[in-house]
Amino acid sequence: MKNGEFFLRRKLEAIGRALEKLSPLERDCVLCPRRCHIDRTRGQTGVCQTSNQARVSVGLLHFGEEPVLSGRDLQAGARGSGTIFFTGCNLKCLFCQNFQLSWLNEGQLMTDDSLAELMLQLQRKGALNINFVSPTHVILPILRALKIAYRKGLSIPLVYNSNGYDSLEVIDALRGIIDIYLPDLKYVSSDLSRRYSSAPDYFDQARMAIQEMYCQQPDLILDEREVARQGLIIRHLVLPGSADDSVRVLEWIAENLSPGVGLSLMSQYHPCYRAPAELQREITQEEYHQVTQKALDLGFENLFLQPEPFQPDEHLVPDFRRREPFRWKN
Ligand code: SF4
Repeated sequence: MKNGEFFLRRKLEAIGRALEKLSPLERDCVLCPRRCHIDRTRGQTGVCQTSNQARVSVGLLHFGEEPVLSGRDLQAGARGSGTIFFTGCNLKCLFCQNFQLSWLNEGQLMTDDSLAELMLQLQRKGALNINFVSPTHVILPILRALKIAYRKGLSIPLVYNSNGYDSLEVIDALRGIIDIYLPDLKYVSSDLSRRYSSAPDYFDQARMAIQEMYCQQPDLILDEREVARQGLIIRHLVLPGSADDSVRVLEWIAENLSPGVGLSLMSQYHPCYRAPAELQREITQEEYHQVTQKALDLGFENLFLQPEPFQPDEHLVPDFRRREPFRWKN
């Protein structure tokens, strides 16, 4: 059997197993830690406001992800991450910069065939990977579409780009399917996760899910172009006034996973949507330095940092109502 056939058979078998295991969960939905117990196959919706079909805002080549996902050098012809922004969200943070999608549910319903076609289109445009943004609540449409897309030639790595509020059972079912896990780890403090995301159990759920992601993809493996083929990159957005909690996030990763995992420390926070009074500012240089210094002290080897200054950066704050939601820097 040739390599390509072996790859296809292995992926299709893993998808088949995942669909068998996860499809029943949708009828009394426990596909994420919200455990809404509603029947999405009958059009009922829970916290994520999504029935059993995916809704998509846009699929595009993204040049602002970590360089190992988007490609290192835009001017030298980086090809971008083939990013699909799903509508709806199971977490709904008050400050979400993608609130047009997560809260306002703006997007188009997609059949499984059209979602598969979108993946293939991005691959034809030269995407380095398929990057599913907010995949947690639409994992079944994604799996069904992948079955179609693989049969039609999809071959680039898959990125699971989630808010971290994932169910262990779902992540376990994705073994052999997802190549690169890109979860957020937003908070350790349950006071913060309750206040900003109405999810006091965020850390307990996210740490179990991320530990399973680490078991599946422990090492960040790059190809000769320094583009990721496999691995785990944990994202952490530093919030105003919460640098101490950020430090706890880093300590947990270093102690429970490894300082060798990919770690992306984001400085791009910008007050959006329903951000409460204490989040109505950018983070300070001191806050970001406290967190990045801690990461260096803990010995993180695969560290991705964002540049200063801490001003709203147009290319990182999208407007999904524009034809081109991002304005890339050249
Ligand atoms: S996926 Fe949606 S409906 Fe299902 S448990 Fe999560 S938030 Fe509720």
